[in-house]
Amino acid sequence: MLDKDGFGLFGDAIMNYDGNIIRPPSEADSIILQVTVGCSHNHCTFCGAYKDKQFRIRSDEEIAENISFATRYCTRQRKVFLADGDALILSQKRLTSLFHQIRTELPQVRRISLYGNAKAIRSKSLEQLQELKDLGLDRIYMGLESGDDEVLTRVRKGETAASMISAAQKVAQAGIFLSVTVLLGLGGRELSLQHARQSGRVLSKMAPRQIAALTLMPLAGTRLGNQVENGTFLLPDALSMLKELKEMVNFINCDKVQFMANHASNYLPISGRLGRDKDAILTTIDQAMGGKIALTPEFYRAL
Ligand code: SF4
Repeated sequence: MLDKDGFGLFGDAIMNYDGNIIRPPSEADSIILQVTVGCSHNHCTFCGAYKDKQFRIRSDEEIAENISFATRYCTRQRKVFLADGDALILSQKRLTSLFHQIRTELPQVRRISLYGNAKAIRSKSLEQLQELKDLGLDRIYMGLESGDDEVLTRVRKGETAASMISAAQKVAQAGIFLSVTVLLGLGGRELSLQHARQSGRVLSKMAPRQIAALTLMPLAGTRLGNQVENGTFLLPDALSMLKELKEMVNFINCDKVQFMANHASNYLPISGRLGRDKDAILTTIDQAMGGKIALTPEFYRAL
């Protein structure tokens, strides 16, 4: 649990974090060790996560202090999540040393996860990723956001569909669980269906083990938030977001991928396994588009 100042609370004791911590929903019960502050890219127009943070790698002393806290207060937690934005950007030497430290000092930990962008994945050889896997790296969360190059350029993701596919394939080859996030609405009204179809195609080539579809909620103060305000970016309405969702699912051709569109930002919470549940998911979306299933009211949506 985090308090408003970004400290982890365990009774009266606190884990010292630099700013607020962001983690995937499935890491709610993990020990969060903050090894970097912010995101080394930090240019995506829609992202406000680390806007106020200057990227830096925390010192060995700061990290050791957090681990030492965890050895005292997190003895029953079996998972570690390495925050912030892209902990995988650490050098191989620092990562292996950190993983050894976690294994020694937190022997109950069975799984280590982190956010890794395509640049960070590229910076590691296959052998290095396999070495991390052997030391406990179980899961990488990666943001694709869109499979469409035009959208990726507009939102300044700094990657292309091809670079993301190649990064994802390397992670899969290393035997590491890959979870990929896409953002409905990111193409605006203009590129809506192009964004959905290309994202479906690219996800099929990335073949992750898990896909999480979130729905864009423009944030004030971000570049995209300003574009919405001045009318240069037109946000698709709820029905168009559902059309995108349907089109994307239609274009995903993967076996045994867990598909989750049940984030609080979504208008229609759905989850299932593709391809097994694909028809059922498409039917549910059709029913929602036809008004037979109520959508999440605007005021309940959240990031
Ligand atoms: S979306 Fe990811 S890569 Fe882009 S600025 Fe935010 S944290 Fe960094």
